[in-house]
Amino acid sequence: MARKKKAENKSEKKKLPLKRVVQNNLFMLKLIHKGAPFTILSMVLISVLEALTGFISGSYMLRFALNGINEGKSFSEIAGVLALSLIPIAVMMVVARWYWCRSYRMRMTRIKQYIFSRAYKKASEVDLSCYENPKYYDDLAKAIEECGNRAEAVNGSIEMLAYRIVNFSANFALLFAIDPLLLLFVLIPIAAVPIQKKINKVGYDKNMETTEENRRKDYSRRTFYLADYAKEMRLLDMPVFMLERFRASGERVVGIIKKYGFKMATLQYIMTECNEVIASLGAMAYAVWQTVGTGRMGFGDCLVVVNSIQNVAYSVTNSADTFLRFHDNALYIENLRKFFEYEEKIKGGDKPLPESGDIVLDGVSFKYDGASDYTLKNLSMRFGKNEKIAIVGHNGAGKSTLVKLLLRLYDAEGSITYGDEDIKDFDLTEYRDIFASVMQDFHIFSLSASENVLLRPMREGDEKTVAEAIEKSGLKEKIESFPRGVDTMMTKEFDKDGEVLSGGQAQKLAISYVYSRENRFVILDEPSSALDPIAEYEMYERMTEACNDCGMIFISHRLSSAVIADRIYLMENGEIIETGTHASLMEKNGRYAEMFRKQAQNYAEV
Ligand code: ADP
Repeated sequence: MARKKKAENKSEKKKLPLKRVVQNNLFMLKLIHKGAPFTILSMVLISVLEALTGFISGSYMLRFALNGINEGKSFSEIAGVLALSLIPIAVMMVVARWYWCRSYRMRMTRIKQYIFSRAYKKASEVDLSCYENPKYYDDLAKAIEECGNRAEAVNGSIEMLAYRIVNFSANFALLFAIDPLLLLFVLIPIAAVPIQKKINKVGYDKNMETTEENRRKDYSRRTFYLADYAKEMRLLDMPVFMLERFRASGERVVGIIKKYGFKMATLQYIMTECNEVIASLGAMAYAVWQTVGTGRMGFGDCLVVVNSIQNVAYSVTNSADTFLRFHDNALYIENLRKFFEYEEKIKGGDKPLPESGDIVLDGVSFKYDGASDYTLKNLSMRFGKNEKIAIVGHNGAGKSTLVKLLLRLYDAEGSITYGDEDIKDFDLTEYRDIFASVMQDFHIFSLSASENVLLRPMREGDEKTVAEAIEKSGLKEKIESFPRGVDTMMTKEFDKDGEVLSGGQAQKLAISYVYSRENRFVILDEPSSALDPIAEYEMYERMTEACNDCGMIFISHRLSSAVIADRIYLMENGEIIETGTHASLMEKNGRYAEMFRKQAQNYAEV
């Protein structure tokens, strides 16, 4: 176990090849460009101008003023030039502030909006099986969490690189103009680059270990405020448990810092020694000697050397850090890229859908990824275009799995046809659109009642559709009792006047969706479990009337509802064990009849 964990950690620490680092950063740059064109260009331009302004207002003007004094120029001459140079510098500073605080932030918002929209769209398209694979789910969560941050990080790295290149070049040129021999001192920080690389490597290892731990901390943190965990956190001992885990993760982070701290401090000390002591003091001593000893260097130049050599040393040593950031970015982008480039296994074709038709299963078997056994075995069934079909059976028999196959959320072995054509040949969205399905684990959205009925934005003329749907589902009275009627929000999350429906009412609202649209097939996968048996029976009866022109497939473990079906399939362990109408199955006196009598007896006793 411990060995496995170690191996996993090792693989997480794996470095990406340079080609992949470049590709991943380019991938993000393309997204950034699509989100807000010319952001990189404008950002680089501003950074270059800022670096130049910094150089002119710092080193260059300093040199001019001091050399001017040395050469005996008048105060007004020097002050005039300084004042004149202040105008473009001030303009540049205003432009830069405006850019970073307004334009850049607006652009960044659009970029994040664009990347998140693409990620959410993709998340809604990937195969359902991905959500059942913990590794994939973890990667997906990481990719989505990181997409906004990484866009900003890539921008930051580019901005930093542009700034440093200009800053380095300008100071380098200035030193060269003053005395080419000064460049020898620049070689010292360049020679120290391997130490900087070592610092980066230690920093990277530390980051990787900390990131892993922070993810654990993050999980514990989320359990305290996400609604999904709210009940367990109040009723059980989970807060104590999670706080313990949170604290333990924090302690482990402290341990990691301790582990790398000494190494990091030593390396950074050597680095500082090379740059600030040897390079800077060396250049300073040389400049002082040239100024005072030989008189070949002006007083101004001497001060500029002291000022610029530090800039140059800093730029050299930190350029390695900038490149490391690109590598870091690439690691995170890798997840996002894999996610965006994931190819769905469930794909559609381009055959036009027939006007109508039956759905026929022939020898259909299905096994979930990673499962040892088949969940569905050799099913042959027919769902007629106008038939009302009940699928009944105990929990775990495979009823919901069958529905998922009909909706093409998974593909199975054997053949499933609609109107005699393989369902894989139809466009996926068009094919799925022939069904109106309501599942056991339906959700009520934080939207108005109307929007929850339609499950799409309201359009002109929808008021009548919504009113009829709500009436048919038996929710009219309840919705009309709300002051804002169908415009009432169905949660209190964004509106204190929102309403919260009971389990049974919520199911009726979910079922209203079926009544709001034209359907070829209606699938009801036990959305009625919170209704009492009589209400459930009435609901199915009403639905049967409404589905005059369409097929209906309903799943229930209550056999009393199956009575109205044209045909009943009884499932057990992934197989159809009995088929027929209620009357014929009762006459057969097999499993169905036995189950029916048992349930009827239970109700009679109640
Ligand atoms: P039913 O709807 O009849 O209660 P299901 O179709 O939900 O039955 O489940 C049938 C079997 O398939 C069960 O043993 C269940 O544990 C298994 N199963 C359901 N969903 C998955 C899944 N996503 N991955 C693996 N096994 C699953």
